[in-house]
Amino acid sequence: MSGKLYVVATPIGNLEDITYRAVRILRESDIILAEDTRVVARLLSKYEIHGKRYISFHEHNEEKRIKEVEKYLSEGKKISLVSDAGTPLIQDPGYRLIRYLRTKNFEIVPVPGPSAFVAALSVSGMPTDSFVFLGFLPHKPSRRKRLLQKMEEVNMTFVIYESVHRIDSLMDELCERFADRNVFVAREMTKLHEEYLFGRPCEIKKAIVKKGEFVIVVEKKI
Ligand code: SAM
Repeated sequence: MSGKLYVVATPIGNLEDITYRAVRILRESDIILAEDTRVVARLLSKYEIHGKRYISFHEHNEEKRIKEVEKYLSEGKKISLVSDAGTPLIQDPGYRLIRYLRTKNFEIVPVPGPSAFVAALSVSGMPTDSFVFLGFLPHKPSRRKRLLQKMEEVNMTFVIYESVHRIDSLMDELCERFADRNVFVAREMTKLHEEYLFGRPCEIKKAIVKKGEFVIVVEKKI
């Protein structure tokens, strides 16, 4: 009998943001595939799960791991895939692995939980009946410009992931192109210094503390 791969969502900050089921599945897993094994070991230790077998799984070794995971599943192993934060595969590695295993008809099930974009949208006060998830914008200026231009035309609420290194330049771009729309910035959600800002991008820009992780929601024109 072949095993099962669980794609397990973990907290985006506050370690209590994990489901009972996720804890049970992690406890029952033979192998835990983790982006950074230290991050997941810390989480598991909070839930008194010890002595697990961890295998590192990140964008640079994903290809190499695929056959290995296939072998373990063929042996009937129960495997959990986790990322450093939130839902695996959402701007995190795993797509090539899941795609391959799907074509081989292995059993793959989600263990849903937090994701930064859903958390941000849920407190944004913006219409979420439909939205576009852009994740990290391309770094190349021309591609980036084209994408933002397209978002002007599409006129839908859209969500961006951004790191502290580029938040300033992103806010400049939003201020230039979307000055008449509202923007919601969620910084360090669920963590000690979480912060939420709402308003016009040119204003918000001045108030942003440049520390931590960011989700930015840009409202459609209303
Ligand atoms: N898999 C994750 C998810 O489900 O949201 C996303 C992983 S992606 C590599 C990391 C990015 O998610 C960060 O750069 C930031 O944009 C966003 N993010 C993750 N945790 C966050 C938090 N607590 N507060 C704000 N943004 C966060």
